Amino acid sequence: MKTLADCREQIHSCSKCGLCQSVCPIYKITGNDCTVSRGQFLMLQGLLRGEYKMSKTINKYLDICLKCGACSKFCPSGIDVVDIIALAKAEYYKAHFFEKIISFFQKYLVFGFGLNLMKLFSQNRKSQKFEKKVIYFGGCGGKLEGNASVVKLLNSCGVEVVAPDFDCCGIPFFVRGDMDNFNEAAKKFYEVIQKYNISEVVTSCASCEKTLKSYKKWFDTDEVKVRNVYEYIRENNLKLKLNKKLKVTFHKPCNMSNFGDVEWILSNTENLEYIKMKDFDSCCGFNGLTKPKQYKVTGNLFKAKQNNIIDTGCKYVLTSCLGCKTALSSTSFGKYKVKDFAEFLNKYIK
Ligand code: SF4
Ligand code: SF4
Repeated sequence: MKTLADCREQIHSCSKCGLCQSVCPIYKITGNDCTVSRGQFLMLQGLLRGEYKMSKTINKYLDICLKCGACSKFCPSGIDVVDIIALAKAEYYKAHFFEKIISFFQKYLVFGFGLNLMKLFSQNRKSQKFEKKVIYFGGCGGKLEGNASVVKLLNSCGVEVVAPDFDCCGIPFFVRGDMDNFNEAAKKFYEVIQKYNISEVVTSCASCEKTLKSYKKWFDTDEVKVRNVYEYIRENNLKLKLNKKLKVTFHKPCNMSNFGDVEWILSNTENLEYIKMKDFDSCCGFNGLTKPKQYKVTGNLFKAKQNNIIDTGCKYVLTSCLGCKTALSSTSFGKYKVKDFAEFLNKYIK
């Protein structure tokens, strides 16, 4: 697997133009170059030249990055910042035993025991039979909510859903630089899908979708077609109708690649009034919830997002990523309800 040293050329291709500063939500708050890709690449260049070693301070700056990818989309050198930060984090992970203890808790307590316990309360639904079949990847969100929403939506598109019990896609390990557990998550995914003769995997979570698609790049695995349930709805021109009039806004997760499909559904669903919020696509700052020390910085992002939601006057804010849903719910303070988009449609469509 790739290491940080393999990215030497990409890191050195940073021209220090500073354009990333204009889009980085963290730099806008801190004004500190070490918290944005330009400054981080300067640190990594020194590290690769052997001028200094990976330290807690460097890791602190790598950690504050939200992995939102906003800078990559803007970077004239086309540098994949999120991947490079993950590989730099992997260097820190390898050298620090405490990181492995965190991984243990993350893997066995949070994603193993914790989510399996919550699964007892999740809603499941038996799929209707159709000629076209897909595998549903629920990930952690699927364990919490069950497959009911996705089965209902895909059955309405004439698609049968097979819903095996998958584990986490591995993104929480990836962003911490724990490439061993990330690799294990990928292996488990392939072990499950190989049991079925079905060529397509569908998910409703933007972050799971991006992660499943990234396995090939990291582990040179087989190509699997991974799609989002919202693509199916638009492709089938499925016009939905809510059972009562509701006004909603939508937070676009950084990892979402098909917001056009979501907007199409929001604009074409009867009884649904969609209000686009200001900065609908700016990062929710989920990182700050997982790392309380960063809350001082990300608290500003939560506040800005909260104000933008309140300004829409909507009771519901929809999204489609478990991390975003967690961040938005935890900072809503009862001012609005946060729902997964598919879960919302399942509840309110006739
Ligand atoms: S936008 Fe890209 S090339 Fe410019 S400073 Fe940032 S990372 Fe470097
Ligand atoms: S990924 Fe996001 S938070 Fe990290 S440096 Fe780029 S814009 Fe800033």
